[in-house]
Amino acid sequence: MLSPEILADPVELTRALVDVESVSGNETRLAGQVEAALRGLPHLSVERIGNVVIGRTGNDRQQRVILAGHLDTVPVAGNLPSRTEGDLIHGCGTADMKSGAALALHLAATVEGPRYDVTYLFYDCEEVESERNGLYLLSRSHPDRLTADFAILLEPTYGLVEAGCQGTLRAMVTATGRRAHSARSWLGANAIHAAGTILRTLEAYTPRSVTIDGCTYREGLNAVRITGPRAVRRVRRAGDRLGAGREAGAGGDARQGVPGRDRPAAAGEAGLDRRGPVCGAGRARAELRAGRSEPRAYPRGARGDLQDPGWRRHPSAMARRVTGRHHGRWLR
Ligand SMILES: [Zn+2]
Repeated sequence: MLSPEILADPVELTRALVDVESVSGNETRLAGQVEAALRGLPHLSVERIGNVVIGRTGNDRQQRVILAGHLDTVPVAGNLPSRTEGDLIHGCGTADMKSGAALALHLAATVEGPRYDVTYLFYDCEEVESERNGLYLLSRSHPDRLTADFAILLEPTYGLVEAGCQGTLRAMVTATGRRAHSARSWLGANAIHAAGTILRTLEAYTPRSVTIDGCTYREGLNAVRITGPRAVRRVRRAGDRLGAGREAGAGGDARQGVPGRDRPAAAGEAGLDRRGPVCGAGRARAELRAGRSEPRAYPRGARGDLQDPGWRRHPSAMARRVTGRHHGRWLR
């Protein structure tokens, strides 16, 4: 139970939220506590949709601001309950992002008449695939709940305001070889060696930095997984079979999505041609398949929003600087 005393103290509130385990998919208990806390505040109207909890002021202000944060965390790694060390809190999800959720909850509880109307929004399943993301699902089922003039997602940024967000493009690159006896390897084609060309391409890639409306967005391109052929394990056991693997795959996560650039262009610049084959080693071939991707997003509204002096006045007064958002998701 989040008492008024705890709600009044952002540090104790952060610890209280951290101590309720809420790994993605297991947010019901924490969402219940947040809902109960908001329902105890007469200046808010409160709604719960699944494990999304929304509290809204209704003061007929001219503009509305959304303060949003996710309630879930990545899996616990022996780091619960929370503990403090000096002025630091340790515990699963402390930074990402129960401290941000605590800040929103603290403001909801302690600022009864904010200058703008405020929507406090807490949602589930941010740390997993976007199809389960509570914010995404809410945008589909109740888009009106996201109506506002300005939105801040309280993810940890070390005091920066990061604007918009990058999208992602995921691709699976598969190198295909041909089997041969290891003593007759010239008769085959080694798919694992072809994967070397793929990795060198990734290593040589120079990410762009793109500045839009004064915000710098930095691209990234990462190999996130590589798998080899099952046949290779058989070679190790039997020791007599195969010099060339049939397939070696490298999963790439091309975190591009800088506004103004499309998926084929990003893949092409990374040296990955969607029409594949993209490289050869002997007669091994590598082909690129585009996988799941997530769209980039400007800050809510059009690009011009970033030029609006009113937009910058308030966040930049709080933050060291305003920059492009490098990772994660934004209201979209
Ligand atoms: Zn987060």
